[in-house]
Formats: sequence, C-alpha cells, structure tokens
Amino acid sequence: MNSSNASSGSKPMNVTVLGSGDAFATGGRSQSGYLVSAAGTCVLMDAGPDLLGSMKRKKLAPADLDVIAISHLHGDHYGGIPFLMLEYLYESRPDRTIHFVGPRNLESRCWRMMKLAYPRFNVGVIRPWLHFIEIEPHQEVRVGQARVSAIRSPHTETDISLSLKLRIAGRTIVYSGDSGWNEELVSFAEGADLFICECTYYESSQLTFHMNYPQLAANRSRFKVKRMLLSHLGREVLAHKRDLKMKLAFDGLKIKL
Ligand SMILES: [Zn+2]
Ligand SMILES: [Zn+2]
Repeated sequence: MNSSNASSGSKPMNVTVLGSGDAFATGGRSQSGYLVSAAGTCVLMDAGPDLLGSMKRKKLAPADLDVIAISHLHGDHYGGIPFLMLEYLYESRPDRTIHFVGPRNLESRCWRMMKLAYPRFNVGVIRPWLHFIEIEPHQEVRVGQARVSAIRSPHTETDISLSLKLRIAGRTIVYSGDSGWNEELVSFAEGADLFICECTYYESSQLTFHMNYPQLAANRSRFKVKRMLLSHLGREVLAHKRDLKMKLAFDGLKIKL
C-alpha cells in the first residue's frame, strides 16, 4: 500500500470480499478473492479470474497489493494472475516487490499461465518485482508486517491445496480455501478474529473435496472463532439462502476487525 494511504498498526483491519462465488461464478458472484489491509500492508487472499474487475469496480488499485496469498492452484483461485501481471506490465508498474505466497509449484504455474495467455509479451520487465514464496503445510513465512502459515486441505491429491492463516497487526484471519471436511481446520482456526470458510454445497451427499452446510452447521460450536463467514457459495447454497443460520459472504462485503 502506498505511504499516502497506509494505516498504522493501531487502526482496524479492513477486509473486503472481492469474490464470494464458486468456480462457476454462481449468481453472478465473482470467484474467490479477499482483500485485507492493516498496518499499511495490503494482502490479497486468492486471485480469481475476475480480480481486476472486482478491484476496479471498488476503486481498489492493483499496484497497492503487497502480498498475494494463494490457497491452491485451481483457476477460480489464481486465474486472475495473468491479468494482474498484464496490469503491472502496462498500466501500473509496481514500485516495490510484490510477494506471492502459496503452495508448491505456484511460481512455475503462474508463469506458465501467463505464457499461455500472452505468449509473446516480455514478462522479463516485471519479473524482478514479483517474488514467489512456496510454502509447505505447517510452515510459516513473514512478509513485511504479515505472517502467513498453512495446513494442507483435503481438496486435491496431486497438487497441494492449503488452508491459510494470516496474522497482521495483532489480528488473525483463517481462510479454509477449498477443502473437504478437515478436523485439523478446527484447531488451526482456533482464536481467529475472522474465519472465512468455503461452503459450496447445501446437501451433505455432495463431493467430498468441498464442504457443505450440514457439516459446518453441525461443527459450528467447535470453531472457537470470533466471526465466521461462509463463502465460495454454490448454486444449492444460494437457493437455500434463507434456511442458513450462518453468515454468508457477498461481493463487496466489508468487515472491520
Ligand atoms: Zn474453488
Ligand atoms: Zn479448488
């Protein structure tokens, strides 16, 4: 974040939901993206394909991002990165290092995706500003004011998918990423000021590599968190919106912590 709009550590943390939809952008919701700003640092968690649109509609500047944390290498969670690279190449050149944090193979997959999207563009110009940090489950990295740690989520078998924990300015956000039911997530989320949890399905019989509402409702009291927000909302969940007893994210939702 630029020094002109940086906030001090004592000011609240602001969270903006950029994308609360599932991979299909159900209900016209953008795919995954959560912007967190605190202590003069701007962290993006996941970068869905509509990233630039969802930021610019809210007058948020892509050049203000300091850290981009990616939960896993599915297009609805990192498909916006080629467009972000394009933005940095032509529209808003970074004035400092931007740190990408995510699972193994993050760096090669991002550059490959960029190469496929824009084969002849000279990305060498922006390469020096983009710093990739690949983390393993149970590892923690410090990037400026932010600390990012992760556990593995049972969502993919070959690639590693992560649930992320972001600590910044004395506050903690836990984000499940995409995940099947994971007992470890209960202890990982403990004490979080905000827990953003995927809830793609309403029926319990759906896929085991996504979470559903009955699982989360049955376990809600076990999540010792200050606030819990369901996101990555699929068709079934949106059709049953009024039956849900938990708070649902929507695009543009702002939370102060
Ligand atoms: Zn997803
Ligand atoms: Zn996924």
